[in-house]
Amino acid sequence: GVVKDQLNAALKPHGLFFAPELSTSNRATIGGMISTDASGQGSCEYGKTRDHVLELETVLLGGERLHTRPVEEAELAALCQRDDATGRAYRTARELIDTQGELIRAKFPPLNRCLTGYDLAHLREDDGRLNLNSLLCGSEGSLGFLNEAVLNVLPIPQHSTLVNVRYAGFMDALRDAKALMASSARPTSIETVDDKVLMLAMQDFVWDSVAEFFPDG
Ligand SMILES: Cc1cc2nc3c(=O)[nH]c(=O)nc-3n(C[C@H](O)[C@H](O)[C@H](O)COP(=O)(O)OP(=O)(O)OC[C@H]3O[C@@H](n4cnc5c(N)ncnc54)[C@H](O)[C@@H]3O)c2cc1C
Repeated sequence: GVVKDQLNAALKPHGLFFAPELSTSNRATIGGMISTDASGQGSCEYGKTRDHVLELETVLLGGERLHTRPVEEAELAALCQRDDATGRAYRTARELIDTQGELIRAKFPPLNRCLTGYDLAHLREDDGRLNLNSLLCGSEGSLGFLNEAVLNVLPIPQHSTLVNVRYAGFMDALRDAKALMASSARPTSIETVDDKVLMLAMQDFVWDSVAEFFPDG
């Protein structure tokens, strides 16, 4: 599988990047990221992995390949007519969302990170198209083997800024993070580092590359 850092290294010469971030980016595969609907630094701005998945190809039990992307009503009707695993998947999904959709929406709490796992509530997109990727993203390999993915990539930002703020206490930092997120500065991400982690980092070989961001005092 393609590893996330490999993908971004290949995209860099084109001025593009795959936005979902995670702390294991030097070893996490795209298939693993999609299957866990991974997200991390920058998710307030860029969302989760599923927000950047356009199409998937999945090998189902028995070897059949399932191609998934948002489908309009006419195409959905044709897919549901099929006498194979693809047909069964689309028929089941269509019936589920069309008969249980209201109940699902009423029962599940509104979560800003949506639901990781089978996200039934979003089987139909806002425009009504059926998208099986809402099930496949976050399904942890339980529905099939992801074989191919068409991903959304974005232009690499021209500028980046790091602002380092020091607080008297950890809770002060957490409280202020809320205010900072709501401020007009619109931070892409906020990372809170306590003194214990900082002390440990000082003994790590990475310290030399970041020490300048943590001046004495
Ligand atoms: C130290 C640590 C830090 C982490 N940090 C973050 C973080 O910051 N943000 C975050 O979102 N997550 C984080 N995670 C969890 C994160 O989901 C995984 O690190 C990563 O996304 C998994 O990718 P992987 O390639 O290692 O997949 P694996 O761990 O190998 O697999 C993960 C799941 O996906 C399934 N899977 C993998 N490939 C495929 C495929 N091709 N088809 C079908 N199913 C597949 C596997 O069956 C498994 O259920 C962290 C995990 C660890 C251990």
